Amino acid sequence: MESSLHEHLKIQALYWLKAKMTDLCANEVKLFVRRKQVKADAMGINIKRNEARIIEVKVSRSDFLRDEVLQAPYGYHAIAHYAYIMTPVGLLSSEEIPPGYGLLEIDDYDNITVKRNPKKNETPILTFDTLIKRTGRAATNAVLFQELSKETKDPTKGTYSKGAKVHLISATCPQCKKRKKYLVRVNEENTLCKVRACKHVIPLNKARVHTITSYNKTFYNQLSSLIKDPEM
Ligand SMILES: [Zn+2]
Repeated sequence: MESSLHEHLKIQALYWLKAKMTDLCANEVKLFVRRKQVKADAMGINIKRNEARIIEVKVSRSDFLRDEVLQAPYGYHAIAHYAYIMTPVGLLSSEEIPPGYGLLEIDDYDNITVKRNPKKNETPILTFDTLIKRTGRAATNAVLFQELSKETKDPTKGTYSKGAKVHLISATCPQCKKRKKYLVRVNEENTLCKVRACKHVIPLNKARVHTITSYNKTFYNQLSSLIKDPEM
């Protein structure tokens, strides 16, 4: 699983690229190079300058050392015009950065410093059109995912989902068209619309259902012992 520091730095990398590249920026850009799938942490495109930059985030030395893509002939430095490795301050020395890459350091206050400039790659192995297309797709996905995650964000982050018996879902009633949240058993086929004046049956196999989170026996036991607490 991705660490929250990695996630944070990826977003900071995007802000930095946005200020520098202006036109099109995205995190997690999927690229296909010589039949290999490579995912760039952050990519920025400047159309007028005909330029693509990639930032690869590394938050630990082991993460840096085991990354085979960095030095490969299909690495980020070969894909874009410029490629950087971004790390917390002092994680890597300039000397150990692979040839071609720049080094960006980010401090505890999110200030980013260029420790080493990248070398320009005049002949990226992917065409500029492909880089634009891939970055555009990733940016579009990010927007759509944001919309979806507003509705389906799991506040428990799956804490009680192992061996779940009950789902918290959102579903739209075919009768009154109201989208509401429901607690239903796993594999439940129907539920009744919550709107008092409606009470229509919602067939869950037909409705566009989003599972927000799931609850298992552990959750039930913890919840009931807390509720039984005489202090409450
Ligand atoms: Zn209804």
